[in-house]
Amino acid sequence: MKILVAIKRVVDFNVKVRVKADKTGVELANVKMSMNPFDEIAVEEAVRLKEAGKATEIIIVSIGPAAAQETIRTALAMGGDRGILVQTDAEVQPLAVAKVLKALAAKENPNLIVLGKQAIDDDSNQVGQMLAALLGWPQGTFASKVVVEGDGVAVTREVDGGLETISLKLPAVVTTDLRLNEPRYASLPNIMKAKKKTIDTMAPDALGVDVAPRLATLKVEEPPKRQGGVKVADVAALVDKLRNEAKVIG
Ligand code: AMP
Repeated sequence: MKILVAIKRVVDFNVKVRVKADKTGVELANVKMSMNPFDEIAVEEAVRLKEAGKATEIIIVSIGPAAAQETIRTALAMGGDRGILVQTDAEVQPLAVAKVLKALAAKENPNLIVLGKQAIDDDSNQVGQMLAALLGWPQGTFASKVVVEGDGVAVTREVDGGLETISLKLPAVVTTDLRLNEPRYASLPNIMKAKKKTIDTMAPDALGVDVAPRLATLKVEEPPKRQGGVKVADVAALVDKLRNEAKVIG
């Protein structure tokens, strides 16, 4: 079984994100970038499936600037076999990512595509679902457990009311939730080995995909600063404030 894992290079989750002075986006200059945390979970799951003898090859894909090579290397050091960088400096929106992944799926014929449930920069939570729709494949989103058996995969999903387990026929798309696994740290020997693994680089055009944005960002703003809180004397004062100041109850 061949597994394709999609990873995005995003602002590291520890960085306090700042809006650019001209409000066109967030500051990326000199900011630490890392693999999207949900994508680390996706890579880990693919590596565990390979270690369990269920998968034979793991292909790591990223769409983004040349620097995304580093992120691919990290995934290769965790256990990916080879990488593909679809290189572009343009903003790539979820639909464009899904189209690129669809084109790669036609080329590589994976049995399973694993993605994060969302990228923590835009928090879109769209690519996995769009990809499954474009391919006409079943999807198991927000996975907290993945069991591959025969020509199918059972996915336990985190839904509002608790957990739900669904059975999908392969090929399928799975997106990872936080509790699926704890990603490993790459060991030094594996980091060294990863330097020798292949990363193919291509342009979106070579896959016949137009990645031009379909949505325009009008402006990006910081959320309003939180006002200091106050202590109320009793429940009646609280209700009064909720009704007359905050106007959140009638
Ligand atoms: P999103 O729908 O943008 O929140 O992203 C969901 C998932 O799609 C991510 O966790 C990644 O697995 C994948 N993805 C999004 N953008 C990219 C990208 N530029 N390159 C590779 N994978 C991506």
